[in-house]
Formats: sequence, structure tokens, C-alpha cells
Amino acid sequence: MSQQVEINAPGDMQFFVNGAYVDGSGSERFEVRSPATGAVIGSVPVATTADVDLAVKSAREAQRHWAKVGVWERARVCHAVGDAISAHAEELARLQTLEQGKPLLESRADVEETATLFHLHAEDAVRLTGETIESREPSKRMWTFYRPVGTWAIITPWNFPLLMFSEFVAPGLATGNAHIVKPPAHTPFSVLKAMALLRDAGVPDGLVNVLPGEGPTGEALTVHPGVDAIGFIGSSATGARIQANAGLKRSIMECSGNGPLIVLGDADLEAAAKSAVYGAYLCAGQVCCATERVLVDRAVRTEFVDALVAESDRVRLGDPFDEATTLGPLNNEGVATKMDRHVANGRDLGAKVLRGGRRHPGMPTDLYYEFTVVDEVPPESLLATDESFGPVVPVVTGASDDELLTLANRDRLGLQAAVFTRDIGRAYRFIEELAVGQVVVNDSTCWWDINMPFGGAGGRSTGWGRIGGKHTLLGMTDLRTGIIQL
Ligand code: NAD
Repeated sequence: MSQQVEINAPGDMQFFVNGAYVDGSGSERFEVRSPATGAVIGSVPVATTADVDLAVKSAREAQRHWAKVGVWERARVCHAVGDAISAHAEELARLQTLEQGKPLLESRADVEETATLFHLHAEDAVRLTGETIESREPSKRMWTFYRPVGTWAIITPWNFPLLMFSEFVAPGLATGNAHIVKPPAHTPFSVLKAMALLRDAGVPDGLVNVLPGEGPTGEALTVHPGVDAIGFIGSSATGARIQANAGLKRSIMECSGNGPLIVLGDADLEAAAKSAVYGAYLCAGQVCCATERVLVDRAVRTEFVDALVAESDRVRLGDPFDEATTLGPLNNEGVATKMDRHVANGRDLGAKVLRGGRRHPGMPTDLYYEFTVVDEVPPESLLATDESFGPVVPVVTGASDDELLTLANRDRLGLQAAVFTRDIGRAYRFIEELAVGQVVVNDSTCWWDINMPFGGAGGRSTGWGRIGGKHTLLGMTDLRTGIIQL
């Protein structure tokens, strides 16, 4: 592995509550290590219920005022935040790579999207308009408009620390909401550092508070009576637990995926192989819309697998600060153990590991998983039925479009799928019949645009609500109806 580039460790940081960095009321701290080197890079306090109470109180107070601020002023502040993030892009990207482990090139793209989200939602918010409705009573006037829901608990995962933060906070600020954000305790720094930028850009005190922590902090927040709504991005298991605790609070739930990439018999196999590999190495496969499994028409399987193996040999595992690296370490031991378990289960059931299938020896930590290609994967194996969340392409074969569709839909995690075909009619059938929120034709499952609605299919276990574009604004506001008797 090449030399690790010098980057300042953030050291010991505090919470961000009511516009200032503050110590928690407890004495416990959480130590954060770099996944790339194993070195301690800093620590954060562990939140107590008193810290949660204080953050909720500050948020509620701030929100009462912010809701009365006009949308053009809210938009101006969001634009200023976007500019501030762009001005500090390199620093934030390096910090995110240090704590998360993803290649620096990816962190730079995340920061660029984070800044753009603040601009995008500022623009969307000023165009969020209701309608006038004709009453059956001539003396009545009726119309609708959008009001902020109030105070949100924002619970985020560790795979895209800055992007997941801004996916809720940018639209929430633009529409008049307040937030208490809880990033995971082991990826807290980029978001905590960004808070100084939000404050200096003019975000009023209390509107965005950050309390990094683990499950108990998240639980204390989501059940808190002062929290009106929950924005959650994380696993389906945690999402279900949160929803059971939260009762009838408003929620947007963005949970796990098991994205199939489907290769039909007439597909461009080189393009499909390239997309499958990209969809499994981006963020080391730790993406909700990662290519979790490839379902390929038996007629083209051999040719496709050859292309897949050739493409996978181009993946460069290494130091995430090295610009030639395309695959960094996994973020934590939990995902690495899951990869071990899924690959072992595949082997036990007769699958053939063609590349990788192990942690790479001789690296600074045990989190560097080799890019893995597994062929002849039985549809009932964990690699096919569960989200692996690592750098693996499991190949499952089907005999016809019908069988591939059945294989794709037998899973409960319906987030995003990709289909490769040259036939518009077949593509259209898969777009309509796949039980997922989004279908990409002839590109990776890992393709998204921050201006498009993104989320799970109804009735599945991937959550509900939409992130992206004006759809998050709609999710974070209430439609109010005014009625006047003349
Ligand atoms: P996780 O469910 O373990 O944790 C997510 C967050 O929930 C963390 O901040 C965690 O501390 C918190 N949490 C845990 N228990 C809690 C509780 N009882 N109450 C409140 N909060 C609690 O998920 P993870 O491992 O951090 O993230 C990976 C998962 O996130 C994957 O399944 C991935 O697919 C999913 N994800 C989904 C999307 C999407 O848009 N659908 C995007 C990114 C990640």
C-alpha cells in the first residue's frame, strides 16, 4: 500500500447545540479510529438524556421563529451554506475520507453534491406553491399551502456522512423546520466540522443541532415528545424498531436495498459488466443502491462472466487517499464480518468464488476486503437474498425474462434495480413490473440524481417517503388548507 497522505486528525470534538460547540453533560467519550490505518483520530462525547432534552428544547424554540421567516430569506441562507461548503470542499472531503474510509475522489463528489443540495432546495422552496380550490358553497374561499412539520430527529448512517445529513437538513431548513441530527458515533467529524460553516453562513442558533451517538441516543431522540418527525436513513431492522417506538410521528424512512442488476439475453454485456463492477466497488459496496446481485440470462452467462472478471481486475484496492485507489477499506468490522459470512454461506451452497472472497493480507487494518466475484450463486443463498453491503458481485442465472423477474421480486428489499437490454419493450416491462422504487435502464444500480425522487417501493421493507428534489420538501411539510366564509 502506498504512503498515507498526511491529514490533520480532528482530535477531541464537542457536540453542536444551539449554535455552539458544547461539552455533553456526561463524562463518557467515544473514541474514533480511521478504518484505513486503525489509528485513533479523535473522540466525541456520549450523549445523555439531558443532552437530548437540551437539543430538542433549542430546536423547538428556534423553529418557532424560523417558521415565520419568509421563504426567500430561508433560501438565501441555504445558498450561503452551499457556497460555504464549496469553499471548504477539500477540507471536508479529506475529513470524510479519514473517518469513513472511502476513496478521496468519492468524498469530493459527495461534498459537491452536499453543496448542490443546499442550492437545489433553496430554489425548490421558493417555488413550492399550493392551489386554490373551488368550493361548492359560493360564499367560501379555499386554498392550500405548505407549512413546516416542526422539529425533526435526523438519524443517519455512516456510508455517506455529509450527503445523508444534507439530504434532510437542506430541504428541512428551506421549508422552515428544525433538526437534531444523530450521525453514528464513529463517523461524526465531517458533519460536526460543517456545523461551523452553517453557523457562519447565517443558520440561526438551534435550527440544526448535532449529537453523534449510537442506538440509545437515537432512541432517546425518536421517542422524545418534543420531536415531531423522524428522518431516518439506515438498515431496515433499525427502521422497523424506530417506527415501532415512534408511533404516529411523521417519518421518512430510507432503509436497506438488495439491488438487482438484470442482464437480458440481448444486452450489451461489456457495458453491463462495467456497471455491475462499478455498482459493487463504489464506497466499497456500502451503498443502499449498490449492485447486490446480478441476475443474468443463462444464454449469455459465460460471455458475461468473462467480461465481469476482466472488469473486476481493474479495481484498485488500497489507501483511500491515493488517487489511483478505487476501492478503500470497509468502514467497520460489522460489515467485514457480514461479508465473510455471506461468502462462506455461498461457498457452502456450491457457489464458485472467481475473484477475492477474503480480506487482503498485509494491510494496515483487517478491513480491506478484496473485490469479489462469485458465480453460480444459488438464489436461496445469503449473497442473493440479503444485503451484503460489501464489494461483491454475486451472479445468479435465470432461463427467461419471466424467471429473472421472479428472482428479482422474491426479495423484500425493493429499493433500486438496473436492467440491461437493447429492446425498449422489454425494458418497459421491467420498469413496470419490478417491485422497486427506481429502475435504471442500461446503467448501474448505483446511479442517482439529487433532483430525482429516491426511495423504496410501497409494501416492501425498504421504507417509505422520497428523498430528492421537491419530493423531500413535500415530505417535510404539511399541506394546510385555509377556508374563509365571506
Ligand atoms: P443502522 O440501521 O445500523 O444505523 C443507522 C442509524 O440508526 C445510526 O445512526 C444508528 O446509530 C441509529 N440507530 C441504531 N439503533 C437505533 C434505535 N434503536 N433508535 C434510533 N436510532 C438507532 O444502519 P447502518 O449500518 O448505519 O447503515 C447501513 C444501512 O443503511 C444499510 O442497510 C443501507 O442500505 C441503509 N441505507 C439506506 C439508504 C437509503 O436511501 N435507502 C441510504 C444509505 C444507507
